[in-house]
Amino acid sequence: MDMRDACSMDRSKDLENNAKYADVIIDVSIDKLDRPFSYRIPERLSGIICVGSRVRIPFGGGNVEKKGYVTAIRDSVELDDSRIKDITGIIEESVSAQDMSFEIAAYIKNMYGGTLSQALKVVIPAKAKAKPIELKTLVRKMDKEQLISLAGEAARKKQHAKEKLYLALIDNERIPSSWITSKLGISSQTVASVVKSGAAFLEISSEYRKPAISDICNTQVALNDGQEKIVNSVSSDMEEGLSRQYLIHGVTGSGKTEVYLRLAEKAVMMGKQVIFLIPEIALTYQTLARFYGKFGDRVSVLNSSMSPGERFDQCERAKNGDIDIIIGPRSALFTPFPNVGLIIMDEEHESSYKSESTPKYHAREVAARICEMTGASFVMGSATPSLESYTAATSGKVTLFELTERAGGGELASTEIIDLRKELSSGNRSMFSRRLKALMDDRMAKGEQIMLFLNRRGFSGQISCRECGKVIMCPHCEVPMSLHKGSVLICHYCGETREKPAVCPSCGSKYLAAIKAGTEQVEESVRKLYPEAGILRMDKDTTKEKGAYDRILSSFSNGEAQILIGTQMIVKGHDFPNVTLVGILVADLSLGVPDYRAAERTFQLLAQAAGRAGRGEKPGNAVIQTYQPDSYAIKCAAEQDYVKFYEEEMAYRETAGYPPALHLLAIQFFGLDDKKTSELARGLADVIKSNGAKKVLGPAPANIAKVKDYYRHVIYIKDTDEDALAKIRSFSEEYLDDKDMNGMFVQFDLDPVNQI
Ligand code: ADP
Ligand code: ZN
Ligand code: ZN
Repeated sequence: MDMRDACSMDRSKDLENNAKYADVIIDVSIDKLDRPFSYRIPERLSGIICVGSRVRIPFGGGNVEKKGYVTAIRDSVELDDSRIKDITGIIEESVSAQDMSFEIAAYIKNMYGGTLSQALKVVIPAKAKAKPIELKTLVRKMDKEQLISLAGEAARKKQHAKEKLYLALIDNERIPSSWITSKLGISSQTVASVVKSGAAFLEISSEYRKPAISDICNTQVALNDGQEKIVNSVSSDMEEGLSRQYLIHGVTGSGKTEVYLRLAEKAVMMGKQVIFLIPEIALTYQTLARFYGKFGDRVSVLNSSMSPGERFDQCERAKNGDIDIIIGPRSALFTPFPNVGLIIMDEEHESSYKSESTPKYHAREVAARICEMTGASFVMGSATPSLESYTAATSGKVTLFELTERAGGGELASTEIIDLRKELSSGNRSMFSRRLKALMDDRMAKGEQIMLFLNRRGFSGQISCRECGKVIMCPHCEVPMSLHKGSVLICHYCGETREKPAVCPSCGSKYLAAIKAGTEQVEESVRKLYPEAGILRMDKDTTKEKGAYDRILSSFSNGEAQILIGTQMIVKGHDFPNVTLVGILVADLSLGVPDYRAAERTFQLLAQAAGRAGRGEKPGNAVIQTYQPDSYAIKCAAEQDYVKFYEEEMAYRETAGYPPALHLLAIQFFGLDDKKTSELARGLADVIKSNGAKKVLGPAPANIAKVKDYYRHVIYIKDTDEDALAKIRSFSEEYLDDKDMNGMFVQFDLDPVNQI
């Protein structure tokens, strides 16, 4: 079904034949009602309602008023006319679905579950219409002599404000009203009386809200050979009208952004528009400044701190052709451009590209689909590509480009691994190895900056051996088990529970313990070592307040502190030229997370963190402290060897059976009553198994077993065939529709990247 043509076609048919009926998708999250219902279009609304309109309708026996989207217009329906209800009205203030919205929404619903109306809400970027900003301008009507005489008269009457305004009108033909009130300090009554005198009139126009342009950077660089090859190759595909996908694997600073800029320029020259996706928090003003520098007013931004009015206006500007480029997170993908030619996804491995609420879509997959539909090109870039994209690149589905050197010169930091087990055995019980301590002393003396990094992401009490460094893993799932109530180990994939062993199963050591670490403890220790030093800490606690995140970073960047301590928040895309030492305190922390992506995340975090050192003129060091110096994620990160990591990690995914070797569907249960929730999960798992699914794990309590009073349980289903999982999902949705879901809800997550 091609809904794109349907809207315009139906509208004209609507006018000619006086069509009477509409199919309406109702706003519900219940699967059973997720189909179009027929309604009559009353005479007064005929010709106004078209495909995509947002309407109010009476629903059910009680005729409760609901909202919905019109998906089709018809001349006749099969139902008896007396059983059909009238559409109550059209919701003018809502943004209607248009063009490809239905097609994309249908794709999202089929891939990721949920209802069509939930999917439509995702693809319609601005929910509510906003009134435009009014601009008032005072425009001169009289000639100068007349104004001079009026000014003189006002002066005689001691009406000084009026006099000032007449004089201002002599020099300026047009004066913005904001200028009158703020700069001249003249009240609106005075303006009104000047208008009344016939000296000037007020012109009212409207304007879209525009995000403030912070900074402009306009440096021209000549592309190096590697960059030029990419730009030429993608450009020539664009010229030939070939819609393809590309992955630029390039170390930080290798000039990827410069390539994006050139390609964007190419698309704009071809009369097309560009969507530039960036992860939520990596919206660095340096990148923005470069786009503003090249495209000026023709580029705009979407971000999470914008008001609904600001968002709506950016969509209007895109629709009207006022801008060529939008920069923003995941949701910017749905910017209603008339003719998208290029979608760029920077840092494509970032988990924020996956939605965390139903439908849990992945922006990378949806972007690829949009490119197929529109013929646009899709360019992804990363220093540490996701396994998904790199696999697609090795299979030839995606064209791979490599940029191996820093474009602006400068060396990668020299990185070394420090074995914490040896520190311990030689009596060093502090957080800092002797080597890291020595390097810190050196930087403190030189007045250079240091970043200390604790990769706590998703940390949940894994048990590890202080002698051999091994983490206790689930024998069935190859993911770490977590410690509960001090003595029970549990696997969050399959639910396996075991007593905590007394000695290490690998080496027999009795030094088996949960790793404890917090940024606060790190801060305390650093203060003891360097009582005089300026120290900043960045973690969840210190960034709760609005603006705190930016404040800490800019204060560090201004040199107000010499040491920055933080979680993964501090490693993303910021450039601090004076940082010459990065210390990763316990690299194992993110490795021990009960998630099949733990090694991938660890590799990405460590490679990025090491990339923070030595961005400027001075050479840098990175020190990775760990109890598992032989882990391939840690070794490959230290060697900055992505390909070797990829091969090792793919081998693990294949033997243990995880994406991208196959597909994984997570069914997540949330409920106020733990027992009822786990019974619901158990019931569905049994039905899925009896329907022939072979690889069903769980149910098991989720990684974080309870959040905001809701207990969480998960089932995982594995299959090489995505469609088979889609069938299981929609079958499960039906099964759950018939259950009493009081106090419970269920979500589906295909190939999850955010473990719950
Ligand atoms: P990435 O996006 O891969 O991190 P950037 O495009 O931001 O890399 O480039 C890193 C730095 O190198 C920037 O300061 C940029 O201006 C500079 N740069 C990029 N390309 C070149 C080039 N061809 N010649 C010289 N400097 C370059
Ligand atoms: Zn051991
Ligand atoms: Zn398990």
